[in-house]
Amino acid sequence: MQKYQAYIDGSFVDPAGGEWFETFDPYLAEPWALVPRCAAPDVEQAVAAAHREASGGEWSRLTASRRGELLRRLGDLVARDADRLARLEVKDNGKLYAEMLAQLRYLPSWFHYYGGLADKIEGAVIPLDKPGYMNFTRHEPLGVVGIITPWNSPLLLTAWKLAPALAAGNTAVVKPSEFTSVSMLEFARLFKEAGFPDGVVNVVTGFGPEAGTPLVEHPLVAKIAFTGSDATGRAIYRQAAGGMKRVTMELGGKSPNIVFADADLQAAVYGVVSGIFAASGQTCLAGSRLLVQDSIYDLFVGRLLAFAGQAKLGDPMAPDTQVGPVATRPQYEKVLAYLDVARQDGAHAALGGGPAAGGACGKGWFVQPTIFTGVDNGMRIAQEEVFGPVLSVLRFTDDDDAVRIANDTRFGLAAGIWTTSLERALSMPARLQAGTVWVNTYRATSYMSPFGGYKQSGIGRENGMEMIREYLQTKSVWVNV
Ligand code: NAD
Repeated sequence: MQKYQAYIDGSFVDPAGGEWFETFDPYLAEPWALVPRCAAPDVEQAVAAAHREASGGEWSRLTASRRGELLRRLGDLVARDADRLARLEVKDNGKLYAEMLAQLRYLPSWFHYYGGLADKIEGAVIPLDKPGYMNFTRHEPLGVVGIITPWNSPLLLTAWKLAPALAAGNTAVVKPSEFTSVSMLEFARLFKEAGFPDGVVNVVTGFGPEAGTPLVEHPLVAKIAFTGSDATGRAIYRQAAGGMKRVTMELGGKSPNIVFADADLQAAVYGVVSGIFAASGQTCLAGSRLLVQDSIYDLFVGRLLAFAGQAKLGDPMAPDTQVGPVATRPQYEKVLAYLDVARQDGAHAALGGGPAAGGACGKGWFVQPTIFTGVDNGMRIAQEEVFGPVLSVLRFTDDDDAVRIANDTRFGLAAGIWTTSLERALSMPARLQAGTVWVNTYRATSYMSPFGGYKQSGIGRENGMEMIREYLQTKSVWVNV
């Protein structure tokens, strides 16, 4: 079994504690590699290197244009290695190879886009009301950014943070999920090849409390950029408050997908199915609550069940597989427990409702694509994030009713609307409490478009031009002339 090393100050090194842990292939349900079990001493070294580069080291003396050039070169290397990195991610999280390859081929865009932005961070001269003074602003990096990511899209969610952080002149210590660390450790090889000075980006692997907490609490870390569950987000927010650190948080969701009677029903069926069953439902933006208008309820749910019932489960590397396994054993057990909760609360499993085993699924951690009808929005299955292939179907009467049910959640990450009415397509997005609203589509994201949560789905935004401000601080300079 391959034994990986952490990446600290430009070198691959053994963890200080000399311990490794197994990472698992969810399709085979067996370990395939060993990942360093980093802890506080490793984090200390990584932060020290990152801090040196952020404050006086080689990186901090580079021009913004040079920073941009390095980022764009990194993007080119990611494009070259996309297939290799995609295969590693499939091995660790069980997502479909076709999906991971598409994701990895899109990944260079973040480094090219923010690389292009690096030398366009301009201050302003303020037209003061005080004669005799000149006042101007500088937008300066924060320093060391701690990046903590989940297992569902490891490199993509790292790029969302790393590219703007570096473009703004910061340095980084990345702590990937303990379930999917390998792709980030392989990705780390590219920093030196692209020409980044040692210590600008460091990777420490390990468990949240052992490797994540020391990073969040380290006094030289200026900001935490986190994607993960809202429970962990809350814990990190509290820890970060102690050091008055900046945070951006991309957390969970319970996003509504709303199908109106005037929708193109076939398009809506495809959108709803991909919205919840892609990546076996393990996407933060999963459309896990389907709201269907009364008058088309039976027709639409019938078509949905027929289409979703054909989904082919199996090996995520096989080109004809449509639904892969759940990424981790704890997640698999959590999803199965939610199926019981839903049934106990009175929901009816109109499709699926249990584990899938044998045949093409082998020994993998598979859950049948599941559709619950008879769901009330107050039930736990409609309020809590399952993060699995489980859809709850609810009815609504009119626009007001749809808005009421859609917004009746503590989350606010995303929402989808299916309608052929232009009036509705334009009026509904303003009424939905969500950071992203899709009309007649679902799941589209881009490096150019802001992404983030309303309510308890997060703090701040990622992607897009303005978001580079999340990695900068503004200095006001007064000169007595
Ligand atoms: P998680 O919260 O369990 O773990 C995320 C990361 O936090 C891991 O690297 C983990 O090791 C680390 N961590 C755990 N405890 C920590 C602590 N006390 N201090 C510091 N770090 C700690 O999340 P997960 O199960 O890996 O991912 C699934 C979650 O991620 C879902 O809730 C999903 O909605 C969310 N997610 C959100 C987005 C988004 O953009 N909004 C995208 C993808 C996933």
